[in-house]
Amino acid sequence: MTETFAPVTRFAVPGRIAVSNRAAAVWQTATLTEIRRETPHAATFRFAVPAWAGHLPGQHLMLRLAAADGYTAQRHYSIASAPEDDGHLELTLDHVAGGEVSGWFHTVAAPGDEVEVRGPLSGFFAWPGDRPALLIGAGSGVVPLMSMVRHHRARGLDVPLRLLVSARTPKELIYAREYGAETTPVFTRSAPAGTPVGRLSAAHVAPLLADAGRPAGGWEAYVCGSNAFAEHASRLLVEAGQPVDRIRIERFG
Ligand SMILES: Cc1cc2nc3c(=O)[nH]c(=O)nc-3n(C[C@H](O)[C@H](O)[C@H](O)COP(=O)(O)OP(=O)(O)OC[C@H]3O[C@@H](n4cnc5c(N)ncnc54)[C@H](O)[C@@H]3O)c2cc1C
Repeated sequence: MTETFAPVTRFAVPGRIAVSNRAAAVWQTATLTEIRRETPHAATFRFAVPAWAGHLPGQHLMLRLAAADGYTAQRHYSIASAPEDDGHLELTLDHVAGGEVSGWFHTVAAPGDEVEVRGPLSGFFAWPGDRPALLIGAGSGVVPLMSMVRHHRARGLDVPLRLLVSARTPKELIYAREYGAETTPVFTRSAPAGTPVGRLSAAHVAPLLADAGRPAGGWEAYVCGSNAFAEHASRLLVEAGQPVDRIRIERFG
């Protein structure tokens, strides 16, 4: 954080910016319509963005808060919603202790508030739904991966999709109510009875890359989380035989 960053309360009345066109380079107004709690430290914020030009699952956007005196703060956020959720965007934010932007969302924001968004950004981490995808995320790193899962469901795609998601405890598992057969949760601190506790390991990854678990043509792997998690997961993938050039990594750290 720089010294010029204002306290969170300076963003109590975000500035209103007119929507002008659909280009990713242009700031658009996003109106907060709903807040859904996901875990004690994460919530989903749903916005109406009528002029949004669309995105691919896995892409992110730039979000800007503007104070009345012209002061602004910008952060990157992955898009959680599927492209099929027309005219709307959902973001899921962790409440970072002392965080300027996440703090405003978690303690001040209310339906009707307006923020600005620009995007979509980064085609590299995008999954258009055209190839088997092995998704590995931890904490809020599951956000762009959930957009892929939702897209897969919304389109009724046949292409194989698997999600390994790591959380410390069941209470901290973001989107817990939404997972289906495609998802294997991994709990590192405590788990429901009968579920092992431990880090993501070769035992989770290797079977998916062994011949019996491997789809025709192999997987495209998508890894998202902190720097440490991204390194750990990509090392497991490489050790299990995944080609390095078919591992895509998004780091939030
Ligand atoms: C491509 C991309 C996508 C992202 N998508 C998401 C997303 O979907 N959901 C989400 O919650 N975040 C996401 N982030 C992180 C997000 O951009 C912000 O960094 C985060 O919300 C903290 O911003 P802040 O203004 O609240 O905290 P700041 O005021 O910037 O920082 C406050 C303090 O927290 C520390 N800090 C900053 N970020 C983090 C962090 N992520 N974890 C732990 N400590 C931190 C800082 O070092 C500082 O000490 C993404 C980042 C990138 C680069």
